[in-house]
Amino acid sequence: PSIDRVKVAVRVRPFSQREKNSGSKCVISMHSRTTIIQDPKNPEHMKMFTFDLAYWSHNGFQKDKDGVFISADPSSKFAGQRDVFHDLGRGILDSAWQGYNTTLLAYGQTGSGKSYSMIGFGANKGIIPNVCEELFKAIENREKNQEYQVTFSMLEIYNEQVRDLLSRTKKPGGLKVREDQQLGFYVDGLKSVPCENYAQIERLMEQGTKIRTTASTNMNASSSRSHMVITIQFKQVFLDRDLTKQSSINLVDLAGSERQKSSGSEGDRLREGSRVNLSLTNLGNVISALADEAMGKKVLHIPYRDSVLTKLLQSALGGNSRTTLIAAISPADICYEETLSTLRYAERAKKIQNKATVNTSTLL
Ligand code: ADP
Ligand code: MG
Repeated sequence: PSIDRVKVAVRVRPFSQREKNSGSKCVISMHSRTTIIQDPKNPEHMKMFTFDLAYWSHNGFQKDKDGVFISADPSSKFAGQRDVFHDLGRGILDSAWQGYNTTLLAYGQTGSGKSYSMIGFGANKGIIPNVCEELFKAIENREKNQEYQVTFSMLEIYNEQVRDLLSRTKKPGGLKVREDQQLGFYVDGLKSVPCENYAQIERLMEQGTKIRTTASTNMNASSSRSHMVITIQFKQVFLDRDLTKQSSINLVDLAGSERQKSSGSEGDRLREGSRVNLSLTNLGNVISALADEAMGKKVLHIPYRDSVLTKLLQSALGGNSRTTLIAAISPADICYEETLSTLRYAERAKKIQNKATVNTSTLL
């Protein structure tokens, strides 16, 4: 197996209207791969983080005739959706063609730009639609003695329950996560839809996004307390060589990472908040344990089994997958604490080492 560190990218978005209205100051700066955050209460106090990639999407952009955000001028370091896809999406596709499992996780507080990077809005399509579109483009140009199978599934983890986002009927209690000796953890009864072209995937994604649970909180009217996992199974069959290659592409839009007390939750919401936290907190525990292990510390137990999310991400974290984390951050001084905690989380994640192998098998 090839030993791969988890690749980490950080992306800072433009000011939101709310941040503009409140006269926010930008506390983030980026210099090539280094991100610097300034403490608004103590401006001389700066912290530096270096990741594999740093995307400046805060300013220096304009809209083109199609409504796509592009660099305002050649000197601008602005990174748009195409730039992010070029680095991260391409890597995912290359790995998939080689037969590696790959995972992309978006982490950050609500409103930091996770869904924007993953799915995108309008003409500014995110990584997931771009990956799917490019996958089918490449398939169309391939040799005739090869066959391809693409299946698409989309689920949501909410309150530690799994919901199929491609199914209109909601199963009380959610779908069960089971364990198989060979496959590891999987969701029993989850729809996995065979797809022939990009348009089909686009429709499924639209349908799934509509079904996805959104509960309103003080933080953000469409705040997302759920984790969304899209899985694309990509299988290549080489007819003349009796060989198959299989890759599982996992694309995960995590729930907002903010501490629940700051969103003013009460009653039911509070209980719900703490359980959403359970999955995210436990993801943090798994990441910490794996980071310690990678640093040479003796770690007896990685708590994958303690939450639904970590069960489903087991192979993505320390296992058979090439994994990337995109840390989405706000530029604003008022988000300093949350942004700092996101950067620290990402710092731990970058220490994790995976052991990815090509998934091949002969047809005989
Ligand atoms: P999250 O999914 O983390 O809660 P969103 O992706 O919904 O956050 O982003 C919140 C708002 O910020 C949206 O209106 C989105 O369009 C905008 N936004 C986020 N990132 C960017 C970006 N890189 N460029 C332009 N707008 C962005
Ligand atoms: Mg979102």
